[in-house]
Amino acid sequence: LRIDGLVVDLPTPDGGAEDAIRIVDGVSFDVLAGTTVGLIGESGSGKTMTALAVIGLLPDGATTGGELLWRGEDLLRSGPDRRRRVRGHEISMIFQDPLAALNPSLTIGRQVGEILRRDGRPRAEVRRAVVDLLDRAGVPEPARRMDSYPHQFSGGLRQRAMIALALAGSPSLLLADEPTTALDVTVQARILRLLRSIQQEQGLAMLLVSHDLRVVAHVADQVVVMYAGRVAERGPAGAALRRPAHPYTRALVASVPAVRTRTALADPLPGTPATPANRPFACAFHPRCPLARDRCRVEVPAVREVAPGRWSACHFAEEVLDR
Ligand code: SF4
Repeated sequence: LRIDGLVVDLPTPDGGAEDAIRIVDGVSFDVLAGTTVGLIGESGSGKTMTALAVIGLLPDGATTGGELLWRGEDLLRSGPDRRRRVRGHEISMIFQDPLAALNPSLTIGRQVGEILRRDGRPRAEVRRAVVDLLDRAGVPEPARRMDSYPHQFSGGLRQRAMIALALAGSPSLLLADEPTTALDVTVQARILRLLRSIQQEQGLAMLLVSHDLRVVAHVADQVVVMYAGRVAERGPAGAALRRPAHPYTRALVASVPAVRTRTALADPLPGTPATPANRPFACAFHPRCPLARDRCRVEVPAVREVAPGRWSACHFAEEVLDR
């Protein structure tokens, strides 16, 4: 997947399209086969809207710009039938809250098998495939459990069922939006390990959306850090989190004790997050940035390569890297 200059505008709550809010503002990055990209940022950073644009489930009234190149085809210019076909079969999504995403009145097996039935596969074959999918997603006794309803599953099992459902169409790209946020810590770790092993075994590309740096540090090969609808930094996960090239990434890392390497104490992020609706002029991070100076208040920093494979939208990225 190549995302190139993606723009998403949403109408204001009073419906005025002329003063739409730019939720995603010129975002670019790639997700290569067999790799996981962690998309991180505080709430309001535009990360979920970026994922929803990829899967084609943006809210009503949203308008888009730029390109979403899926194996060279621009999905933003594909018709609704083609997008429906891509969704589930080529790209699928795991949502944060499986209870909201699953239909409460249908058995787990029926929902996981839906896409296979639509493809016209015989009943017995669908049943076998569902048992296999649930088994791969770590649901115990899948042949019995497939006849349960979502409310009969624990939170962790429901998320495993969602993973089985997402894999049912044999996608090549998996989008996971805060897949473990609703789960307790021990279950989170198991689900993350599962996602990672499925991704590696099947050579899938995965875009993992999370506000939790620890989750991303565990799983991602590459990271894209978003702030107020724009990319702040992108690069290899290990390097970017160990030695950030943007003051925002540096502040994010410092706010998480387990990721921070130099001291045991966490520093809370200073100031209030900017949102796309109240994005400060020029560098959106300048009101919170300890390095801000005059240039930052008048000139939007371009995303540029500041070291091999390292991209940053900071006028003074080299200084940040050298610190
Ligand atoms: Fe801070 Fe300026 Fe860099 Fe923005 S451009 S992150 S304000 S130093």
